[in-house]
Amino acid sequence: MPAVAENCPEWCEADHTELERHRRAIVTIPVIATGTEGASATEFMAELYRELGNSISSIYIGDGQSHQIDVTVESARRIAGVIRSMPPTT
Ligand SMILES: [Zn+2]
Repeated sequence: MPAVAENCPEWCEADHTELERHRRAIVTIPVIATGTEGASATEFMAELYRELGNSISSIYIGDGQSHQIDVTVESARRIAGVIRSMPPTT
């Protein structure tokens, strides 16, 4: 299975013959992205990954272009907690 010099974390689904980072399968999220140019329907990718030789896992969420966040898993969980604590806006 892995063609890398270290063991994969349990959550890794990467094909290491093609990819030199540990990675969970990308999840696609339909979103309405907003910004200075207005709102638009698009899709964000969410990826859990860890670079080889690194002990820190990260989460990338974004469109690969103008919208993105790329932080440690711990930071992502803090952000998620803040979002969950925000009041309803309807
Ligand atoms: Zn791996």
